[in-house]
Formats: sequence, structure tokens, C-alpha cells
Amino acid sequence: MAIRQIRTIGDEILTKQCKPVKEMTPRLRQLIDDMFDTMYDANGVGLAAPQVGILRQIVVIDIGDENQYVLVNPEILEESGSQTGSEGCLSVPGKAGKVTRPNYVKIRAFDENMEPFELEGEELLARCICHECAHLSGHLYVELVEGELEDVEDTTEE
Ligand code: ZN
Repeated sequence: MAIRQIRTIGDEILTKQCKPVKEMTPRLRQLIDDMFDTMYDANGVGLAAPQVGILRQIVVIDIGDENQYVLVNPEILEESGSQTGSEGCLSVPGKAGKVTRPNYVKIRAFDENMEPFELEGEELLARCICHECAHLSGHLYVELVEGELEDVEDTTEE
């Protein structure tokens, strides 16, 4: 188990475009394991590689639906509907804000074995997928917040 340091807002790395993964390597497998450890340690539901300082298109998600999603090179194929709710981010500690996201998304990605798959998500999973994919192109949810960022003690963070 290895916990990596989570980069926080203001760190330039969070604003950069991530590179696609061409092949899975032992190093990237270790990164994926560490990302899960780091996310669980911080009580998050999602984490993107740039949040631990690696500019690669890798996301891990666990929203408590008994799946551990690994999304390598994710690409959004479809989105529809909308949902507005409170969102937080492990890279913006202690804050939350109201964000409108699609209520449904369908993506294509590769798993940790570089096998392609498609995934559909609604509600929290859709929100989380959109939030994490935005990290891979250097965007944070704070750019989308309606109204003020609020101070929170404990929230669902991604
Ligand atoms: Zn985030």
C-alpha cells in the first residue's frame, strides 16, 4: 500500500493536458494501485492521475457500487440530461460547490489490461466520470461552480 501526495489547486500540474497511455507497464499498474490506496485513504470516490502528479489519462473510481472502475484513455461518447448538486474534489480540500452535470454518460475506455470497454453511468457515477475526465484535460470543477464555493468539513470528494 502506497499513498501518494495529492496535488491541490494552484499546482500547475492540475491545469495540464494528460497524455494517453500507449501500453500498460508495471509502473503504470503500480500507479493504479497507489491511486486506489490514495483515494480510499482520503475518503474520495474518484481520483485522476494528475492529482498525484502524473500527466497520464488514468482515472480510478469507486462510488460504493461494488465496482472499482479503472478508466484508461476515457472518451465520452454520449451524454444526456442534467443534474445539479454539490461537488467536491480531493484537490480542493474543505470546499464544495454546486455544479450542473449530465445525468447520463456513456464512455469508452481501456481497463488495466488495456482491454477496451464501454461504461454507462447515471447520477453520481455520471457526475464522477465527468469530473474525473475533466481533470485529464486540466480542468477543475471550481470553473463550473454556480454561486459561491462553500466551506465543508466532510463531503464526497473526487
Ligand atoms: Zn477532482
